[in-house]
Amino acid sequence: MKAFDLVQARTVQEAAGLLPVDPADKSAMLLAGGQDLLTELKEHLAEPDRLVNLKGIPGLDAMTWEADGTLVIGAMVTVQDLEEHTRVRETLTALHEAAASVGSPQIRSVGTVGGNLNQRPRCWYFRSEEAHCLKKGGTHCYAAVGKNRYNAILGGFPSYIVHPSDLATALVALEAEVTLVSPSGERTLKLDDYFTLPREGSYQRETVRLPNEVMTSVRVPAPPAGMRSTFLKMQERESYDWALSAVALCLWMDGSRISDARLVLGGVAPKPWRCASTEALLQGRSPTTEATARAAGADALKDARALSDNGYKIPLTQGLLRRALQKLGA
Ligand SMILES: Cc1cc2nc3c(=O)[nH]c(=O)nc-3n(C[C@H](O)[C@H](O)[C@H](O)COP(=O)(O)OP(=O)(O)OC[C@H]3O[C@@H](n4cnc5c(N)ncnc54)[C@H](O)[C@@H]3O)c2cc1C
Repeated sequence: MKAFDLVQARTVQEAAGLLPVDPADKSAMLLAGGQDLLTELKEHLAEPDRLVNLKGIPGLDAMTWEADGTLVIGAMVTVQDLEEHTRVRETLTALHEAAASVGSPQIRSVGTVGGNLNQRPRCWYFRSEEAHCLKKGGTHCYAAVGKNRYNAILGGFPSYIVHPSDLATALVALEAEVTLVSPSGERTLKLDDYFTLPREGSYQRETVRLPNEVMTSVRVPAPPAGMRSTFLKMQERESYDWALSAVALCLWMDGSRISDARLVLGGVAPKPWRCASTEALLQGRSPTTEATARAAGADALKDARALSDNGYKIPLTQGLLRRALQKLGA
């Protein structure tokens, strides 16, 4: 690992001021729980001269509820704190379930919400020191024709990574926003707009975050009355594993029929994959019938293009969606 300086920032503004302005300048990076970043350093994926530590900055590890029921989660709140929060479990069940599905108890106790949302993809070509892939400035996405069992079936071209964050899948379904602070001010944007597809932005980044912006908080709006939500995930191992596929579903019911829905898929695309047309299709249907599950599954995956080894993700995701509809409709 290349030697680096560790700088303790006292305020968010100070932290932002220690970061580079130019995207090509990789000399400094933010450190939160360090679980992903330290692996990147050990694998020479990142080689900054300076790490700016966010730990200890007042306010960043706080979780607060505003009078209207909006939840504000500081970027340094741990995944475990989120998982164990009673009101989150009761009112934002999908977020609780996503937090509870992350890694293992040890990982959840150290990993932060900001670090989770900004962690880098798990694609083994990206993670391998030897592979100079598209995401690292190379000319090819090796997953396109290589080992692609864990890669994207939706929105992948030309780089077939999948977004690794389970919290992101649930938070996009809950229509969360993120606040970013830089030396020139503050901006808040929808989490859905924070993440980018490879064809939309730089192949080398997964978000629109500027190099000198610090994510300070995530705002989850008060759920409209009557919302039921769930997050279901399929992983290869029981713990310590990212999603092969995941579904975050929010439903509102009018009697036995769905009056409104929000659906986001995880583990299948380079960003959390919102399914707007499926949300519209679900309106007025009974959630527990086979016809609804089939129609919703077909619509949600209609644009899927499997690579050589990941076609299994299509029925897997449709099965998760069927289970989510049955769970919330029961
Ligand atoms: C074995 C293992 C299994 C895991 N399984 C899962 C899983 O199933 N699901 C899942 O969702 N996650 C999983 N994770 C990820 C884990 O939950 C952590 O969230 C993740 O490693 C990063 O969190 P961190 O706080 O350690 O961030 P760090 O490693 O410190 O930072 C990660 C990245 O985010 C940037 N960053 C950190 N904070 C901010 C901020 N406030 N603003 C802007 N940028 C920031 C850093 O510069 C760095 O690039 C797993 C991790 C491991 C090691």
